[in-house]
Amino acid sequence: MREIVIISGKGGTGKTSLTGAFAHLAANKVVCDLDVDAPDLHLLLRPVREREERFLSGYEARIDGERCTGCGVCASLCRFDAIREGERGYTVDPIRCEGCKVCVAFCPAEAIRFELRHCGHWYVSSTRFGPMVHAQLFPGAENSGRLVMVLKQQARELATAKGLDLVLCDGAPGIGCPVISSLSGTHLAVAVTEPTPSGRHDLERVADLCRHFQVAFAVIINKHDLNQDEASRIEAYCRERDYPVLARLPHDPIVTRAMIQGLVVTELPEAAFSRELTSTWARIEALMNGIG
Ligand code: SF4
Ligand code: SF4
Repeated sequence: MREIVIISGKGGTGKTSLTGAFAHLAANKVVCDLDVDAPDLHLLLRPVREREERFLSGYEARIDGERCTGCGVCASLCRFDAIREGERGYTVDPIRCEGCKVCVAFCPAEAIRFELRHCGHWYVSSTRFGPMVHAQLFPGAENSGRLVMVLKQQARELATAKGLDLVLCDGAPGIGCPVISSLSGTHLAVAVTEPTPSGRHDLERVADLCRHFQVAFAVIINKHDLNQDEASRIEAYCRERDYPVLARLPHDPIVTRAMIQGLVVTELPEAAFSRELTSTWARIEALMNGIG
């Protein structure tokens, strides 16, 4: 089984639109949205949920109102200011609680439970392009790196169970913990970049990350015609480092038009942009087949 992650040094490069198109073009795959802090591949793929699971990660304190005597010890000891007295007595603000367990240890009434934190949900769904694994974190929930690992594991298990040979992932933007998790065990990272100085800088950072984790790396320059000089600089950088440039895609309003219709751009096959993406996917597959 092979795993491809589409990444970008930062958000807003068109990564998800391209992943959606590749999800359409790729055969025998599970699609996986690893951009768990801001998932939006579902807007294009419109998944129908078939399985829903709670994502539990870390711990949080919870006060049992029946046992609490209202002494206030917990609030005075919590250095994260997570416990407040309100109309319903003392309660813990789950967003502030860091799970240090101090209040649990010092509550004289043993009124504080220490429970696994419910951070969101993950789903296995069906889409018009095949199965999809995705998630929704609650606002303010952390541990997105761990959720990425859960999703990847589920996607791999699903691919094995269904006899599919590819996991195609929409990675998180940036170079933080979720991206690092999304690179783990991946055969190929395809970075989508835009021709701006900051785009080049972000690309270099994400390329270094892939080099560090020994993940094969290739590049798509999106909207290359918006700044030919910068596009040339990115190409020169890729040549120097031996990173294949898989495509130089023009800025094309058809991408937005498809998005508004809830479609991926390759579902509008008459467009030159769609034909270019079809060739790009063929290049990705060829590159993938060449990786040992
Ligand atoms: S320390 Fe325990 S008994 Fe005292 S206010 Fe906090 S939860 Fe209630
Ligand atoms: S576990 Fe720690 S952070 Fe959470 S409410 Fe108790 S003292 Fe505060």
